[in-house]
Amino acid sequence: MSESSVTAADVTEGFVCAHHHLYSTLARQVPGPVSTPRDFAEILRSVWWRLDTALDAEMIRWSAMLGAVEALSAGTTTLIDHHESPNCIEGSLDVIADACAEVGVRVVCSYGVTDRHGADGARRGLEENRRFLAAGGRALVGVHAAFTCNDDTLAAAAELARDANTGVHIHVSEGPADDEHWSRLRGLTAPEWLLVHGVRLPDNHGLQGTIVHNPRSNMNNGVGYARPVRFASPVALGSDGIGADVLDDFRVAYARAREDDVTFDAVTAWQWVERARDLVPESRTDRVEWSRPMGGAWDLAFTTGVTPWHITVDGEVVFANGMPTKVDVNEVRARAAEQAERLARAMASSG
Ligand SMILES: [Zn+2]
Repeated sequence: MSESSVTAADVTEGFVCAHHHLYSTLARQVPGPVSTPRDFAEILRSVWWRLDTALDAEMIRWSAMLGAVEALSAGTTTLIDHHESPNCIEGSLDVIADACAEVGVRVVCSYGVTDRHGADGARRGLEENRRFLAAGGRALVGVHAAFTCNDDTLAAAAELARDANTGVHIHVSEGPADDEHWSRLRGLTAPEWLLVHGVRLPDNHGLQGTIVHNPRSNMNNGVGYARPVRFASPVALGSDGIGADVLDDFRVAYARAREDDVTFDAVTAWQWVERARDLVPESRTDRVEWSRPMGGAWDLAFTTGVTPWHITVDGEVVFANGMPTKVDVNEVRARAAEQAERLARAMASSG
């Protein structure tokens, strides 16, 4: 603990970001597409599917290091990550897990399987999930989305998850391109699954699992409001790769819900924060000391700039006096900037 006076209310459990893409941390440092994408499908094609194809192990490593540092700096001790790097699949989950361990952040990994790169690409993605789980890694089986996978691939991912006693982490009904494909998941889902977005999912979809709500990302992609209160399913909050500041995402979730329904209760959005913690219960043993007294949901919905001061994860001090203790922040930022330049060149040369 620091020498500052601390009340019990200043200390909380760690926060959990229920859907992140650590590989996207460098994206904001690379030039945007030549022509402005006009819808969600064009955003995928002109930004994300160009970026993930260009990733190599060094880019993945420093993107994850910077993302993990930024998570700790927001009091988030646990990330549920969803990764894709089609030209650097084998071992990629180890690179991410090692980077997070170096910083001192918990991570639940997954490799996003897809048939976008042919049957062999899907097989290699499944194998990376299998290999990482078999080696004892903390993971869900990743699937990009039903709309980029055939039925055999979806069934194989569900089977692998069942065999490994874990769930599947998959984007579901995020935008128009993915409208009807959710129904192909019927009969495959289980309570351990994470169904990410659900913007266009019917209220009574009947799928099992937790819906992960990513309000900032959904607004950024112009895909519409998921209105998660309509689901019987549990709901958790994620960032979809736009940082890992759970308190900030909570405030956005609250404001977006109030725009839809001015009677919305901040306590409901706080339940989405708690549900994310339930997904990784060991996060509740992490201790975060804050720069101000921490009130309840209504207090935090209206308080910006709340920052942590001191953090222990699994009993280890990983953040002290407002700085990560296990890595040099300036070094991480400098190395990440170098990798962002390499990534920009690789994306430019791929056209
Ligand atoms: Zn996502």
